[in-house]
Amino acid sequence: MKTIIEPFRIKSVEPLTYTTPARREVLLQEAGYNLFKLRAVDVLLDLLTDSGTSAMSTEQWAAIMRGDESYAGSESFFRLKKVVQDLTGFRHVIPTHQGRAAERVLFSSLCKPGQLVPNNTHFDTTRANIEFMGAKAIDLPVGEAGYTQARFPFKGNIDVEGLEALIKREGPGRIPLVMVTVTNNSGGGQPVSLANLKAVRDVTKRYEIPFYLDACRFAENAWLIKEREPGYADKSPREIAREMFSLADGCTFSAKKDAFANIGGFLCNNDDLLAERELNLLILTEGFPTYGGLAGRDLDAIAVGLEEVLQPEYLEYRIVSTAYLGRHIADGGVPIVEPPGGHAIYIDAGLMLPHIPRHQFPGQALAVELYRHAGVRSVEIGSVMFGDAAHLELLRLAIPRRVYTQSHIDYLVEAILEVNTRKKELGGFEIVEAPPFLRHFTAKFRPAEGRS
Ligand SMILES: *Cc1c(COP(=O)(O)O)cnc(C)c1O
Repeated sequence: MKTIIEPFRIKSVEPLTYTTPARREVLLQEAGYNLFKLRAVDVLLDLLTDSGTSAMSTEQWAAIMRGDESYAGSESFFRLKKVVQDLTGFRHVIPTHQGRAAERVLFSSLCKPGQLVPNNTHFDTTRANIEFMGAKAIDLPVGEAGYTQARFPFKGNIDVEGLEALIKREGPGRIPLVMVTVTNNSGGGQPVSLANLKAVRDVTKRYEIPFYLDACRFAENAWLIKEREPGYADKSPREIAREMFSLADGCTFSAKKDAFANIGGFLCNNDDLLAERELNLLILTEGFPTYGGLAGRDLDAIAVGLEEVLQPEYLEYRIVSTAYLGRHIADGGVPIVEPPGGHAIYIDAGLMLPHIPRHQFPGQALAVELYRHAGVRSVEIGSVMFGDAAHLELLRLAIPRRVYTQSHIDYLVEAILEVNTRKKELGGFEIVEAPPFLRHFTAKFRPAEGRS
């Protein structure tokens, strides 16, 4: 059989709520045209994020009942620790309430003002946590990543030559760690090859700089390596994931992505002294080291999810269903980041809406129109999110794991192609007010003046 089906059946359903375009226009105005400010009940298909939005399995719900809520020494922690150690090979496993808390603990322990942290592309919270410490977040994506239509298989790779040049120019003492994000979320959900990770390991070893993975989507990255990197077709996703982790000195992880959990994260490394400093900080803001801001049941749900996500049937379905959305809108004339990656399809809004200038946020304009037209919530990943650091003006359609079926995706394809037929009528936006950090979450917009 050639047809790839959802590798699960549905036991519990959640009804969708419908709104009219007229009602959505009112809701948009009330939300200051910021889709983060909508109530979720007013959204038909919610593709804002794949973070924390997964459907948990029966085994995860069963594990939740097994959760040990002891303050110290909970069995749930030891179950999670074993799963994480087996997968990553790291000695220290420090649970946190989500990925950004792992980032804050890590950067607070390693970064000083004036230092530089390179990454293929920093995620928004990663960048914000580095800059909050007074250090600078530097993006070094490979050249191919700048061309959304280029079909290079590993557009998530970091520019290793650029990395080495930066280390030589600034001196290794100014660089407390090098990070690589797998898959590269802000760079279009594109995978990083094992060859690239090995090259980063070699450079960082030579200059004695710690190398960390931002491992949120390690399983999707492992599957894309299996499909695209010569020599890995016969390896299991687990073997590939283990090899990825074996090259690094530590990782940060958000369990809200590839662990199918609704909350959680962790920080890992092999450095005893550093881990001790991190645990002291953890106790200050997250909690005791055997729960780190989570309930025991959350730790158990993560432990089960980390095993489930590596099942080949799941990963094949996941990658194929994302590509299905990408191919259908791209064939209909909508420019996407090629080739489709793991957790999302990214529309190149800058290319699709050339009449809207960067400073009028073409990605935001498209996000607003897609909601108005079809009740679909997506997110701008461009100048609203990253300001002047934005490389591209993208609209991300993130696919929650195990949540939507093929007909939902067909509805989405139809909606996007309908918006595409009258794209010339879309106008830009301007920001009315915005906070100093992570402005995309709370900024207010209005239709740009003088737009046609
Ligand atoms: C989601 C994410 C984070 C932050 O994790 P949270 O759990 O949302 O705090 C960090 N890096 C990447 C690449 C992410 O996708």
